[in-house]
Amino acid sequence: MSERNDLPGIPAPPPAGETALKPGTFEDSCVVVTGGGTGLGKAIALEFARLGADVVVASRKEEHLDAGRRAIEEIGGRALAVACDIREADSVASLFDAAADSFGPPAVLVNNAAANFPVPAEDMSPNAWRTVVDITLTGTFLCAREFGRRHLAAGTPGSIVNVGATYAWTGGPGFAHSAAAKAGVVNLTQSLAVEWGPYGIQVNCLVPGLMPHEDMTGDIRSNLDRTDDKDVCQPALRVGQRQELGWAATFLASPYGRFITGHTLVVDGANWQRRSMTNPPVVPIREQMGLGPYGE
Ligand code: NAP
Repeated sequence: MSERNDLPGIPAPPPAGETALKPGTFEDSCVVVTGGGTGLGKAIALEFARLGADVVVASRKEEHLDAGRRAIEEIGGRALAVACDIREADSVASLFDAAADSFGPPAVLVNNAAANFPVPAEDMSPNAWRTVVDITLTGTFLCAREFGRRHLAAGTPGSIVNVGATYAWTGGPGFAHSAAAKAGVVNLTQSLAVEWGPYGIQVNCLVPGLMPHEDMTGDIRSNLDRTDDKDVCQPALRVGQRQELGWAATFLASPYGRFITGHTLVVDGANWQRRSMTNPPVVPIREQMGLGPYGE
C-alpha cells in the first residue's frame, strides 16, 4: 500500500476467490486461455474455472502448463493443458482439436499470451522485433482466426477476449516492439468485431494496468524495481490485483456482456491518462535502463 497515508486512494478489491457473476455462469463451456499457466493469464483462467468453465491452458513450456492446470484443479476446476506455439497455425489448430476432444468446442478464447522485454529501439535486433510481433500480434490473429473459422462453420456464437496494453495508445519507450504489436491487437479487435458480429462472435480487448506477479520475467521485474514504490506512482495509489482483471474478463465473455463488442476495456486505475500540470524532465530511455551511450 501507499506511503501517502493522508489520502485513501482507490479501495482494495474483494479478495481472490470471490465471484461477481452467478455461480455456474460458464458451466459446460470450454474456455481457452493462451499463456494461462503464468501471471495474469493464470488469474484469468482461475476466474473462469471458479464460474464453472472447463479451462484449456495453452502455452509452450511444460512447467507453465503444469502450473496452470494445477492451480485450476486446486480450486476444484476441470483443466486441460495443451502445448502450443501460437505463432504456428498448425499448432493452433491442434490446440483447438484437443480442446474440443476433451471439453467440446471452445465457447470463449482469451488471447493472453504475449512476449516482451525492454530494449532501446536502436539496440533492437530484427529477430527481437519479429519475435515479439509474431507472438503478440500474429499469434493473437492465428488463435482468433481458428476460433472464428470453427464458429462460422458450426453456426455457433462465441466470445474472444484479447489482452492489450495501454502503450497501444501512448507508445512505450523501451518497448517499441511490444507497443506496436499491442496497437495492432487493439485495432484487430475492432476489425474482427465488425466482421464476425453477424455470426454471433463478440471480440473485445482487455487492457491491464500494472499488476505485478511472481511470474514476471527478470527483465520486466528489474525494470519495475527501478521505481521505488509502485503504489504512489498510480492515481489509484495502488497497483492492480490480478483477480480484478479476471473479473473483467469473465464479465466481457459472459451472457451479461453480450452487446459489448469491438470494445477495449482498461483496468488500470486511470494510470494511463495520468498527466502533470508541468511535465517532469525527460530522461532518455538508455539512462532509465542504466545503459551507457549507444555503441560504447
Ligand atoms: P507473462 O507471465 O510473461 O506470460 C506470458 C505467457 O505467454 C506465458 O504463459 C507464456 O508461456 C505465453 N507465451 C509466450 N509466447 C508464447 C507462444 N509463442 N505460444 C504460446 N504461449 C506463449 O505475462 P503477464 O505479465 O502475465 O501478461 C499477460 C498479458 O497481459 C500479456 O498479454 C501482457 O502483454 C499483458 N499485460 C500485462 C501487464 C502486467 O502488469 N503484467 C501490463 C499490461 C499488459 P510459455 O513460455 O509457456 O509459452
